[in-house]
Amino acid sequence: MIKYADIALNIPFKTEETLTYQIPEEMTNLKVGCRVEFELRNKKMEGLVIEIHFNMPSFELKRIKRQIDKEPIINAEQIQLAYWMRDFYVSSLGESLYKMIPSGRKNQLSEPAPLGSPELLKLNEEQNISYEKIKSSIGKESIHLLYGITGSGKTEVYIHLFHHILTQTDKSAILLVPEISLTFQILHRLELIFGKQLALIHSNLRVSERFKNYLQLLRGEKRIVIGTRSAIFAPVKNLGLIIMDEEHDMSYKEHSSPRYHARQVAQQRIKMNHATLVLGSATPSLESFYHAKKGIINLHVLTKRAKNSSLSTVSVLPKKEDKELVGEDLLFKIKQRLDKKEQVILLLNRRGYSPLIYNRKEKKFLECPNCTSNLCFHNKGKVICHLCGYSDKYLKLQKENFDNLELMGAGTQKLEEYLLEKFPGVRLERLDQDSTKNREVISETISKLINKELDILTGTQMIAKGLDAPSVTLVGVVNAASGLGLPDFRAGERVFSLLTQVAGRAGRGELKGEVVIETLNTDHRILQLSKDQNYDKFYEEEIQIRKSLGFPPFIRLIRIVSRSSKEEKAREVIEKISIILNEFLKEEKIPSTYILGPVECPFYRIDSNFRFHILIKSNEQNKFRDIIRKKIISLSGSQVYLEIDIDPVDLV
Ligand code: ADP
Ligand code: ZN
Repeated sequence: MIKYADIALNIPFKTEETLTYQIPEEMTNLKVGCRVEFELRNKKMEGLVIEIHFNMPSFELKRIKRQIDKEPIINAEQIQLAYWMRDFYVSSLGESLYKMIPSGRKNQLSEPAPLGSPELLKLNEEQNISYEKIKSSIGKESIHLLYGITGSGKTEVYIHLFHHILTQTDKSAILLVPEISLTFQILHRLELIFGKQLALIHSNLRVSERFKNYLQLLRGEKRIVIGTRSAIFAPVKNLGLIIMDEEHDMSYKEHSSPRYHARQVAQQRIKMNHATLVLGSATPSLESFYHAKKGIINLHVLTKRAKNSSLSTVSVLPKKEDKELVGEDLLFKIKQRLDKKEQVILLLNRRGYSPLIYNRKEKKFLECPNCTSNLCFHNKGKVICHLCGYSDKYLKLQKENFDNLELMGAGTQKLEEYLLEKFPGVRLERLDQDSTKNREVISETISKLINKELDILTGTQMIAKGLDAPSVTLVGVVNAASGLGLPDFRAGERVFSLLTQVAGRAGRGELKGEVVIETLNTDHRILQLSKDQNYDKFYEEEIQIRKSLGFPPFIRLIRIVSRSSKEEKAREVIEKISIILNEFLKEEKIPSTYILGPVECPFYRIDSNFRFHILIKSNEQNKFRDIIRKKIISLSGSQVYLEIDIDPVDLV
């Protein structure tokens, strides 16, 4: 009998979910979950088989050309999860499935720094209470928030939970860590302890390496996974535990369709598997803390640093707008630490050399020709757009502008140069997106810091997270207010969390630490809160603001962006959408719902695309999912592309 395969394609919204093709008789080994090649309108296409059946359709069918995978690379649970993603994020089934398969950049494999010991530490009282409670919930669906100050030893609790899973159950576990962060330390520690049971699905791995690890999980050969965002799809057998470290981190949100959040996918997976989810953070997302306070999530608190050191004192110092990049007080403190052979971390959350290029004659900043964004000056006379990657030569631009250009502001490259000048002979390294093109740099630099072969580490937010270096006694933040001006309701949360995280890098060993935050506006609310390192107080204030302005967690958001290289087309489509939504709102009389816009996005042009958006604020998300699927996604076509973002994390 002839067999047929339903195939899902990695393309956006389609009316027909899958295509049906005939399976050639000789392809006896084709199974659900394998990728295949076939022709569609004379073009070679690839898709994933999601069903095999005998139902002959009424029309004549083409045959599958080639089987790509010998064995399935997607299992039944993943297909079920993809259906949920399709519905929840209003995307296509194929796009959802393809998010689960390792793909992407061909990165270098990073050797983790040789650190840590293979032994489990004895948990302290607070850690033990959290551990026991979480452990006792394994086997039932439950969510926990492990809220512990920086250095309180959350990682050790995770390790004990993994150990329990491996030795006392036949379940598997997933540990999610943020992207581009200094998680090599955790990674290596886990490798030492769990050895062959551990699989990595990290963005630092080569695709081939990631794929190999992925297949081992699929076959049930390994039971513990550690990885970045997409590791939430790891096809482990008998999932029992998911841990999301730094659960507030923005890198857990995907930026292309389906725009999933790893936390939401995790919640769905623990539902399907009766598993346990642990969210860990020193600065939980407002949503998670809100739910913990309401008792929807179990709250566990670690109030003390594990090694009996205390949190560092933080001072917020005014920074005058003068030529000096770093203030006198901070410079003096750096010198003191260097004299004592202690280490310093300096954060400036801006990459490049000078973030602004000013045209004196025209009295404006130089913009990218493709984006609503200022061009940034980088080392070696390069001028770069951070939004689209456009680049040019400074000398050429200077000539074209009759020598009227002037560099303004400072990024990490300038800070590096400045510090080398101020402290001749200092051993300094810089970590930011530019210095880490070669991924080995990160682990090498961290090893150097830990082995005390480095005096100063400087960089962007990349250096704020996770790092555990006991001889760092001073952390300085230069120009701390950058980021607060962004037109985004989460800007405050982001800056507070960044400052708390980076402050947490100081004084983790025996030596007492100190943190200095330099800023133009010392009385900014968020900076004052960061000074107290008081998350609870920050939460109380911020949650009131969210409530009064009507933002999550009090109301859910859906964002629709229309973008096109033709301005009028993008505008036309967003206006059509606005009419559809407003009519729907009127007809259905949906309560407490607001449709904001359409307006231009804050970044109006990116990569030569014009962008408009609409924000739906409503707790009736499902009704809007329906109307979007029925009437709106069909407006997305070759000229105008629509982005549907359910629960967006930023609105730029
Ligand atoms: P967090 O992730 O909460 O910031 P870490 O897990 O990095 O904190 O722990 C901070 C430091 O304390 C690490 O050096 C870790 O080895 C140490 N530590 C954690 N738990 C214990 C413990 N129970 N006894 C001794 N040291 C501990
Ligand atoms: Zn650009």
